[in-house]
Amino acid sequence: MAQPVRVTVWNEFRHERKDEQIRRVYPEGIHRAIAEYLEQQPGFAVQTATLDEPEHGLTDAALAETDVLIWWGHQAHAAVADEIVDRVQARVLDGMGLICLHSSHFSKIFKRLMGTTCNLKWREIGENERLWVVDPSHPIAEGVGQYIDIPHEEMYGEFFDIPQPDRLVFVSWFAGGEVFRSGCCYHRGRGKVFYFRPGHETYPTFYHAEVRHVLGNAVRWAAPSAGPEPVFGNVQPLEEVTVQA
Ligand code: ZN
Repeated sequence: MAQPVRVTVWNEFRHERKDEQIRRVYPEGIHRAIAEYLEQQPGFAVQTATLDEPEHGLTDAALAETDVLIWWGHQAHAAVADEIVDRVQARVLDGMGLICLHSSHFSKIFKRLMGTTCNLKWREIGENERLWVVDPSHPIAEGVGQYIDIPHEEMYGEFFDIPQPDRLVFVSWFAGGEVFRSGCCYHRGRGKVFYFRPGHETYPTFYHAEVRHVLGNAVRWAAPSAGPEPVFGNVQPLEEVTVQA
């Protein structure tokens, strides 16, 4: 049997401890809601880490044992230490997968990897979101219907200031009229990055069966591939080369 994919679910875990209404939705935190689903799926070994742990729970050792890192942050992006961002970026370039959820569009690590402002429009009135699959053969859309309907979500609208995704898997429509690129795939170095839009802290989105299914697919897609180690720098020719004088 293949080795399990080692997943670390990272969460800021501030809203759930401060706000009674949010705690009612996610009593043990958003990270536990995501982890509890992934733990039930075959082929995953799941850990969690949160902002207020030493080194945000992302020590060199923890990252060395992580194949795919899931990231949820919102109000405390600035509290993430730059040296931890450097460390996560280095692991992504070295092959670790990264899945950035919802308001993590503004996380230091996502902005670092994108190189743009990652700004967008937003509105919070609990309107209906419908995520349309626009790349049906993509592995992240496997087992999903034509669309995923989420009855109540925060709205994010275009223009979303990101680089053009390598592959775009979902486009969201919102009841108020906006659209949004809500499932975006990138390659950075040897690592894969997936941005997935839903997941505002006041809604039970991370219990939604199809959202959870997409997270499982995304972990499998983002897991490191067993490709060759890249070789850089000055090298000798493989064949004998005669250079004309
Ligand atoms: Zn939000």
